[in-house]
Amino acid sequence: MTLDSQRTLVALGCRVAAARGLVDGILGHLSLRVGDDQLLIRCRSDTDAGLAFTRPSDIRLIGIDGTPGGAAELDGYRIPNELPIHVETMLADPRRRAVAHLHPPAVVAADLAGIEIRPIYGAYDIPGAVLARGGVPVFERAVLIRSSQLGQDMVAAMGSAPVVICRGHGITSAAGSIQQAVLQAISLDALARMSLQVSAAGGTLRDIAEADWDDLPDLGSDFNIAAAWRHEVARLGIQPS
Ligand SMILES: [Zn+2]
Repeated sequence: MTLDSQRTLVALGCRVAAARGLVDGILGHLSLRVGDDQLLIRCRSDTDAGLAFTRPSDIRLIGIDGTPGGAAELDGYRIPNELPIHVETMLADPRRRAVAHLHPPAVVAADLAGIEIRPIYGAYDIPGAVLARGGVPVFERAVLIRSSQLGQDMVAAMGSAPVVICRGHGITSAAGSIQQAVLQAISLDALARMSLQVSAAGGTLRDIAEADWDDLPDLGSDFNIAAAWRHEVARLGIQPS
């Protein structure tokens, strides 16, 4: 993939996340590692209209140390304060090439309500159920993660999980691709919404039966990622290529 097509993909990821209600307004950002010491990240400018309206040109190339990744890369653009979220998540595990930091209200609300994300359903969303089965850790500080130390603290809470909930703040989702990082954030949001709904209806949240896992197969990345992503892009009104 060329750098420009990677910028387009990151911008699309931002728009998909916003369209799914995983961010509200101007907050949240995605990044994609493009080399040992460089990444593309969603930056802000004086013409920024929020995450839902992210343009490929809002995705800028920077060094892992926050310096411009090329001539004029940061001219007129500001790196998000929470860059350490992206850098520390990537440095902790080189397989995490894509990082989505989002503020999904349902996930924040579920955590604040004391609800732990658990596999309460199965075939409703198998990747989501698997995500929940592995455990969704919580970083218990509600702070703006703007230092390396706070980034490392969040990553320590995350452990080897693909996602972490930041209490009173949002989530960080990391994966090998932008598509997967955003799709697993969508799955986490669906789990949180369903958990809140069940609780609000007076129900009790229970893990699905252990025996059911035998018939919850991995349907493969063509379905779980490629097809799911085509749908997300089509929802934006963009014809899939
Ligand atoms: Zn944040």
